[in-house]
Amino acid sequence: QPVISLKNVTKVYVLPSDEVVALDNVSLDICEGEFVAIMGPSGSGKSTLMNQIGCLDIPTSGDLYIDGRNIRDLNDDELTELRRDKIGYIFQKFNLIPLLDLRENVEYPLILKHKKKDESGYPEKLLKMVGLEDNRFKHKPAEISGGQQQRVAVARALVNDPAILLCDEPTGNLDSKTSAQIMEILSDLNRDGRTIVMVTHEDSVAEYAHRKIVISDGRIVHDN
Ligand code: ADP
Ligand code: ADP
Repeated sequence: QPVISLKNVTKVYVLPSDEVVALDNVSLDICEGEFVAIMGPSGSGKSTLMNQIGCLDIPTSGDLYIDGRNIRDLNDDELTELRRDKIGYIFQKFNLIPLLDLRENVEYPLILKHKKKDESGYPEKLLKMVGLEDNRFKHKPAEISGGQQQRVAVARALVNDPAILLCDEPTGNLDSKTSAQIMEILSDLNRDGRTIVMVTHEDSVAEYAHRKIVISDGRIVHDN
């Protein structure tokens, strides 16, 4: 059973003057442990596809299944829980909280979930795993490099132990050497069994994936 399944998903944005078909009848199965790169020109529908897979938006028509559950059958609380427990999100711009230190940034999803401070030491363990020295844990995001910020963002995405990692241009703000370091971390996570879906413009980054999907005008035009 695929971990992510889209059946005839169409997404239409309704604007005052017209409608934009951002995804046009897309069907797609992604199995557990796959590492998928999504490519395509600007405006082709990549972000829209990621928002659908990430359950951040409901399809205009068609169905999305995560672990076999149709997200249309979930209420708001169940959808929030599914996003929190099943999916980790990594963004181009890191999206760390500037006022929190690095450990607190990683801890934050646990506080949202358990309504109390974390004392397990798991945030620290994850920060070490992504290669951050412990003398950095109390630094603020603005005090470290972009590469280090993305490491922290990866640790944060992992803190609820999601089966799926969604990465939207994870190396888009990084130089090539730092990009390669982040991609090695993502590759290790995939080898450990995590399913990864990643949008990228860069061929050298897409090389880390085992399956490449190209979309154009809201349709899949290449998949292998
Ligand atoms: P990509 O990520 O490949 O650049 P997008 O998914 O962002 O593509 O956009 C696909 C199409 O949908 C584009 O024509 C874009 O202008 C349109 N679009 C995206 N988001 C919105 C929105 N919130 N409202 C209206 N149109 C949108
Ligand atoms: P990386 O190769 O990890 O991206 P850089 O070459 O950008 O790192 O940075 C080298 C060192 O300078 C690192 O130890 C990093 O933490 C530090 N550094 C980078 N940017 C900043 C900053 N804005 N403020 C403080 N320290 C920084």
